[in-house]
Amino acid sequence: MTYSQINHAKAWGFSRRSLNLNHFGQGHEMLNVLSLFDGISCGQVALKRAGIKVNKYYASEINEDSIFIAQKNFPNTIHLGDVRNIRTSELPKIDLLIGGSPCQDLSGAKIDGKGLEGEKSRLFYEFVRILKELNPKWFLLENVIMKKKWQDIITNLLGVEPIEINSALISAQNRRRLYWTNIPNIKKLTDKGIKIKDIIFDDNYKVFSDERIENTKVATKNYLKWDLSGKGYWSQQDRGYYKNGKLPTLPRANPTNKLNIVLGNGKYRRLHPIEAERAQTLPDNYTEGLSDAKRIAVIGDGWTVDIISHILSHIPLAEQQEGGAIPPKDKSLGILPKIL
Ligand code: SAH
Repeated sequence: MTYSQINHAKAWGFSRRSLNLNHFGQGHEMLNVLSLFDGISCGQVALKRAGIKVNKYYASEINEDSIFIAQKNFPNTIHLGDVRNIRTSELPKIDLLIGGSPCQDLSGAKIDGKGLEGEKSRLFYEFVRILKELNPKWFLLENVIMKKKWQDIITNLLGVEPIEINSALISAQNRRRLYWTNIPNIKKLTDKGIKIKDIIFDDNYKVFSDERIENTKVATKNYLKWDLSGKGYWSQQDRGYYKNGKLPTLPRANPTNKLNIVLGNGKYRRLHPIEAERAQTLPDNYTEGLSDAKRIAVIGDGWTVDIISHILSHIPLAEQQEGGAIPPKDKSLGILPKIL
């Protein structure tokens, strides 16, 4: 590597350590990534899909099921445990910090949520602490649509306005989320028009029918609802979604009986875990190894991979990684940024 290449790499925020040389002597930029609240590591699937090469991937997570799935798919993940115990002085230079901090207290599902002061959601402040301490070149924080009051606090602390994206644009699931990032010029996604019928894996999975459904069902635009108790109480789990429509946001809590698909002729069925994976644009069987209920729970907590990879694909890298663009021989040109 020439001195000029090193300097250009530094100018683009990448340490010499993270610039690996392949046997052709070409510089291939490899990012060190720290993922907070890593869950099942949808972040790593997204990095791979965006063609971004990773040197070290550090993950903070405490849920054993999620850690198991992350390790199964990415055995090189360096798990660091509880975010509150992370000592940044013990980490190398981090190029990219990502995370979706717990949303339970912020989520619209909880009207009287304590917001950023809630026991779970205040872990967001750990993201801020670590961001300030590490000062990485790039960051991405994801969270739910929340009260303006909480949103503004996050915006002020991170110094960037969030972008709202609905996963429905590129998947069979409605999932409106906010993304705060300093990655520039993220292009708008166009609607791929994906419906539930496009992600069906097994129409024989946990099929059921019930007279009480037939007697009480009411059709709405997006789903059929019914009243199992007969008390005029329309529970969220008593719904069946049409194959020609979208799934609702995959939830985390008690999800196994919430996600039903209408088969017609008085028949319904549960959503298969592989279909939940597809709704998050994860690879089939990514969460295999856990019970179906646990699979749907960790998937519901996760990211829609194609949204994250879309955002990350806008990181201006110091050179083409895929196929290895040959650095110009004329030193004065240095390494040019990848234009996406
Ligand atoms: N984006 C992730 C999921 C985020 S959900 C994915 O791709 O799967 C929030 C995650 O924060 C949950 O998995 C939860 O277990 C984790 N979490 C909660 N408290 C934590 C803590 N103190 N330290 C690290 N992770 C924590």
